[in-house]
Parts: sequence; C-alpha cells; structure tokens
Amino acid sequence: MNTLDFEPLDPDEFGFRGFRLLIDGQYIYSVPGCTFGELSYWEFADDLGLEDESVSSQKIHRVVGVCDCGFAGCGATWARVEKHDGIVTFSEFSGFQNPQESPTLTFDRENYEAVIARMRILTAKYQQLDARSKGEAE
Ligand SMILES: [Zn+2]
Repeated sequence: MNTLDFEPLDPDEFGFRGFRLLIDGQYIYSVPGCTFGELSYWEFADDLGLEDESVSSQKIHRVVGVCDCGFAGCGATWARVEKHDGIVTFSEFSGFQNPQESPTLTFDRENYEAVIARMRILTAKYQQLDARSKGEAE
C-alpha cells in the first residue's frame, strides 16, 4: 500500500497557488518519467480534475501535475484513477516517457479522501485570496 499526501506550493516559486502531490513522502515528480508534478488549484475541481476530450473521452484519467505555467492545456501528467470500496489506484501515467514502466500505485481510500478534503479546503482559500487581490488591483 502506498501513502498519498501533498504539500502546498510556495506561490513565489511558480507565481500561482497549488499543490505538489507526495507519494510515500516523495514528490510525485520523483516517480521515474513523471513529466509534470505541480498542480495549480484551478486544475483541481473538488477532486483531481477529470480528463477532457483533448486527453480522451473515457473520463477515467485525472490530472496529477501541470506545466509550470499552471495550465493543463499546456502540458500535464494524467493518471488513471480508479476508486474501489477500500482502495484507490493510480496507473497509466500519461506523462511517462516509457509507458511500460508506469507503476500502479495503491492507496487506502480513506487516505485518498482525506487528502482530497484538505486540498478542497485550501482551494477555497486560494480562490478567495486571488479574488481579493484582483479586487485590490482594480
Ligand atoms: Zn505552460
């Protein structure tokens, strides 16, 4: 069983707020071949964002990292995220340069849901902060 966690991004590092997923305490980018590891809060939508038609129409892959400009349309790492009763699996990392080496990661479903819940709370806070700083600029 793997462990999922995240750390908030330092907004000074990329110019946007968001997250960095951690797998077993390691930055997800350290998984071999993972192309993008930072996740902007706007690509997170109550859960890891689902793929759109530009990825595939299956709606089973979710974005786990995006280009350092923050937009998944520019470049992203997608993973097939499957939710079962007790577990959640991540596989088929689309950003892997060598798909044969793409591992299947298995998380306790409670671990996954707790991480997503904490990311939801931060996302709401980031939306407010950005809305407020836009208001101040006008
Ligand atoms: Zn970009």
